Amino acid sequence: MSPSPLRVTVWNEFINERVLPDAGAVYPRGIHHVLREALEEQLGAGVQVHTATLDEPEHGLSQQRLDETDVLTWWGHSAHDQVQTEVVERVLDRVWQGMGLVVLHSGHLSRIFRRLMGTSCTLRWREAGERERLWVVAPSHPIAAGLSQEYFELPQVETYGEHFDIPAPEELIFISWFSGGEVFRSGCTFRRGNGKIFYFRPGHETHPIYYHPQVRRVIANGVGWAAPNPGPYRGRSLHAPDPLV
Ligand code: ZN
Repeated sequence: MSPSPLRVTVWNEFINERVLPDAGAVYPRGIHHVLREALEEQLGAGVQVHTATLDEPEHGLSQQRLDETDVLTWWGHSAHDQVQTEVVERVLDRVWQGMGLVVLHSGHLSRIFRRLMGTSCTLRWREAGERERLWVVAPSHPIAAGLSQEYFELPQVETYGEHFDIPAPEELIFISWFSGGEVFRSGCTFRRGNGKIFYFRPGHETHPIYYHPQVRRVIANGVGWAAPNPGPYRGRSLHAPDPLV
């Protein structure tokens, strides 16, 4: 009997693709659809993907949806402040219980990521279409599985630079170098409660980053790594009593 598929919810703010022609041209159906296709391509029958967007009721992240999510991926950019506190708290609670979280690109400033990190999560940035080289600095890590070279490159990106105001990552998987001279911690892991968190930098809305084969491989690896471990302990919900007797 094959194991049950990993249940992934791909969350997207879904604003830039609708209001910026350059973004709509790259992601006509939204970044969430391309991420969904990437996960299905990479993980096949091993994954069951739902999508959710900001404008849905409860941003598509009802308690039931989150309870049925093993790993949540998060892409947001221009409307972080529109994510309701109640939903942020709900996601936080699920991460503490063991749900995995993969935060992509400008999601570094999302309310949930900042809440989990406890820091500002700010960084330096520049839109200049520069080249990025992502060096694999933890080649034995499962998130780097299947990458056959010491680095891979993206020809045109938005540049991010240090200092990236995060706590020291538990593991650093990628360091980016940009043709403008900056470096950046592009692939970082954290644990909060029982939940595993992977931050992965690539993904600006006007560049076709999520069609890139190595980027798709890494996101799928990140989702697999962040999946909850099987076992009896699932953590305690903030919303239900858990008496000792
Ligand atoms: Zn960007």
